[in-house]
Amino acid sequence: MRFKNYYVPTLKEDPADAEVISHKLLVRAGLIRKLTSGIYSFLPLGLRTLKKITQIVREEMDRAGCLEVMLPVVQPAELWQESGRWDFYGKELLRFKDRNMRDFCLGPTHEEVITDLIRHEIRSYRQLPINLYQIHTKFRDEIRPRFGLMRCREFIMKDGYSFDRDDEGAEKSYFEMYNAYKRIFQRIGLRFRAVEADTGQIGGSFSHEFMVLADTGEDTIVVCTSCEFASNIEKAEVKIKLNEKESLEVVPEIEEVFTPNKHTVDEVAEFLNVDKSKIIKTLLYIIENEPVAFLIPGTRELNEAKVKSALGVVELRMATHEEVKEWSGCEVGFAGPLKLKVKRIYADNTLLHKKDLVCGANKKDYHLIHVDMDRDVKVDSYLDLVNIEETDPCPRCGGKLKFLKGIEVGHVFKLGTKYSKAMNATFIDEDGKEKYMVMGCYGIGVSRIIAAAIEQNHDENGIIFPPSIAPFEIIILTLDLKDSKVLETSESLYKFLLNKNIDVIWDNRDLRAGFKFKDADLIGFPIQIIVGKKGVAQGIVEIKNRKTNEKLNISISEFKEKFEQIRQNIWKEWGIL
Ligand code: ATP
Ligand code: MG
Repeated sequence: MRFKNYYVPTLKEDPADAEVISHKLLVRAGLIRKLTSGIYSFLPLGLRTLKKITQIVREEMDRAGCLEVMLPVVQPAELWQESGRWDFYGKELLRFKDRNMRDFCLGPTHEEVITDLIRHEIRSYRQLPINLYQIHTKFRDEIRPRFGLMRCREFIMKDGYSFDRDDEGAEKSYFEMYNAYKRIFQRIGLRFRAVEADTGQIGGSFSHEFMVLADTGEDTIVVCTSCEFASNIEKAEVKIKLNEKESLEVVPEIEEVFTPNKHTVDEVAEFLNVDKSKIIKTLLYIIENEPVAFLIPGTRELNEAKVKSALGVVELRMATHEEVKEWSGCEVGFAGPLKLKVKRIYADNTLLHKKDLVCGANKKDYHLIHVDMDRDVKVDSYLDLVNIEETDPCPRCGGKLKFLKGIEVGHVFKLGTKYSKAMNATFIDEDGKEKYMVMGCYGIGVSRIIAAAIEQNHDENGIIFPPSIAPFEIIILTLDLKDSKVLETSESLYKFLLNKNIDVIWDNRDLRAGFKFKDADLIGFPIQIIVGKKGVAQGIVEIKNRKTNEKLNISISEFKEKFEQIRQNIWKEWGIL
């Protein structure tokens, strides 16, 4: 491709609404343009990268024996009512009516559509297993679309669904996808981790997320420095050994103490001169229209994802000030678990058998001291309710933990029979019995990968694209167009690369060298071949590796012979070949 005939509208200024680097660079490098909040057009360069990612995903899916289909974006409400998600999915599901006043939605995911398709197609165990996928547009009316391609309302996803005869088969399909995903992210050239994940709204029994490691990631992942344990913080279990000595301790009777105007954990701890971990935070929520209290140590944070999965609920909300006053009988800041008007009280596992604690007295300006969880507090059950912390032991081996930031680019779920039961997707097994198909579902955020790749790979000059997904792998920068030898050399290198089927763009624009260098660095072509007057006169061109900034002179006469090796070394640096 000749740059002159191409459309590359690079910009000097960052877009005003961009908060993260990938968003800024995608717009400045001329890959995308915003249509409206969370909805983007792909320009020619951006589409090239998108297509390269799509191609890698497709090849690996096909290699794993999956079959590509294309499912409708517009979906009838009846299917969502059948699965039970019409009422639960919330506002991310964009709903509308057609001219006959029938309800529809734009597909945010396709479990319903695929299950409906399969239940009409598959009758016998002989037709199973089957694994179908598509690479297509999704729509989610995200509450806060932001960060460019990272969290859009309209975006491209690869979604796949497996159907098996039994649990064993479903697990096999799951791990085939897990391995295919690993290959995909390796081929794209990203540093990533597969982590255990919460199953969230899609539901099901177990799942992993694929996280691109980047300091700017929205997700926190926790990894063990001794064993293989890696998990999303939303999921990681807090496992703390009981202190035997402490659990045998005998504490004095509860005492009410005056704590004027001391509302927060910090204030109370300082005033009473106790450790913050000794203070019970009493958090009040409404779950399924009932008042519920959660007790956690003052040093920790409640993890709502854990609450939802432990209690099997999809929604919870914090109590309002009025509700807190009604249930505790006093002002906010002094609620405690004793004589609290709630239906259920759940305590965090880390409070089990704990003694000599402090909690609100349900009385303005008073707290209780010497609280013994076993003796004094009526708890419905102890659950894992809080976020894990870096100082906690690894829940698997007790080793030391480390927190990393990540961007979720893929997610695999073992769904089980959640959808096949709800939607009656059955088959006749070998024994003549009718059984539910066992499902798995597998997503990759194809367009989000572009943003994640940039968050992980950029510098002050711009994007540093991995060679497998760069819009063009190589750019030839011709510095002195008017010099006939320079032009001739450039053209011959260009043709040579084209003939080898290498993806190359030739910057043959009549512009200052500095301008061309800036654009090449901004767009992030991984390999730059620089052809200038001085070099050509000496019989050499320069090759620059965008990732390492290393420059190498290579003689023009040896170019054809040596280039492939240089290129392969650059791919290897990315861990791709
Ligand atoms: P998130 O927690 O980031 O909202 P999710 O758990 O809702 O993601 P899934 O339903 O598992 O996502 O979707 C599969 C993949 O699609 C995700 O791993 C992610 O890479 C991508 N994805 C999800 N939501 C968006 C979005 N709003 N914009 C771009 N990509 C998205
Ligand atoms: Mg989401």
